[in-house]
Amino acid sequence: MQYRDYGQTGAISALGFGCMRLPELERNGKWYIDEEKAIPMLRRAAQLGVNYFDTGYFYCHHNSEATVGRALKPLRGSVLISTKCPMGELKSAADYRGWFERSLRELDTDYVDYYHFWSLDIGTFQQKVIGLGLLREAQKLKDEGLVRHISFSFHDDAKHIKEIIDRGELFETMLVQYNLLDRSNEEMIAYAAAKGLGVAAMGPVGGGRLAAPTELYARMTGKGQMPTYELALKYVLGNPNISCALSGMGDEEMLRKNVAVASEAAALSPEEWQQIGDSLERLRRFSDLYCTGCAYCQPCPAGIDIPKIFNAYTYHNVYGLKEHAKEQFSEYLQKGGATRKDCKDCGFCERKCPQHLKIRAELSRVEGILQTA
Ligand code: SF4
Ligand code: SF4
Repeated sequence: MQYRDYGQTGAISALGFGCMRLPELERNGKWYIDEEKAIPMLRRAAQLGVNYFDTGYFYCHHNSEATVGRALKPLRGSVLISTKCPMGELKSAADYRGWFERSLRELDTDYVDYYHFWSLDIGTFQQKVIGLGLLREAQKLKDEGLVRHISFSFHDDAKHIKEIIDRGELFETMLVQYNLLDRSNEEMIAYAAAKGLGVAAMGPVGGGRLAAPTELYARMTGKGQMPTYELALKYVLGNPNISCALSGMGDEEMLRKNVAVASEAAALSPEEWQQIGDSLERLRRFSDLYCTGCAYCQPCPAGIDIPKIFNAYTYHNVYGLKEHAKEQFSEYLQKGGATRKDCKDCGFCERKCPQHLKIRAELSRVEGILQTA
């Protein structure tokens, strides 16, 4: 495993474990984490050198923190645990502490290494972090030894990151979306690194879509084959301003593959990294719909699986995998999946989408294309 400086907070493994896709089981309508699989997998990751584990109260039907805490308890001194304060739930400064204490109990630990203001946009930053004086509350947690480092994660237009970094004097690290398909934060990642913040990338394999094999590497470089997940991870780690690629791993095979890539001393040369970036930019120019698969638009009251439909379209549109895209959509329809015709026009999805997609109009357009692809 390669290790990098995480800003000024210490060394972090180049691969971080995102604990939002741990294996789950459903019993009588209630969800549980399959701990017989999840706990050995988390411990195996630590054995393989992963030292950064990122969880959150809402992950895995609210069960992730407790499982992560149980898995890592015997290893607590040698691993870093990150969790997050759900900003949407906060009404007062006291709530901030309340949510932190709740996470501490769930994790069954005495301290959290990285405590994030979760999913900041500029409005939440101004109204809550600044308006409610939450940086003072965060400083108190640090002074009491309950939190080692204060961090934020970000879901908004990249241009707002600068204000958050400049006014959020306590922030030591930042977690942002960054992958082959979404480089919109790249400039601000460089800004954060220059200001001394550590930067972790979420979604390094593009919410799973880059895990599918494609001809991408060959198409972009004219060289031989490279599995797309490997290219995706190498691309993120090829950026010298990224300390850690945080991957949501759901099984041991994925863990093993990611560890192998993150352990390679030379991922991509700076020239290869640049060449791939330039080629992607050209591909993206032809991409007319960018959905990250974040699922904030779910659950749709009409049962429309928007991320699934848009994901099928990405295969069609970005990678030219038209047959695969068509098959995915047709399987969805065969299973009785709801579509635009079932939409109740409530507008919930469009209010929630961090990419500000015109989801209803896009569904109509994309479904038409996928049916005739
Ligand atoms: S507007 Fe339509 S697609 Fe969007 S959440 Fe409402 S019912 Fe679902
Ligand atoms: S449509 Fe928007 S909210 Fe829904 S998964 Fe895509 S990016 Fe996320």
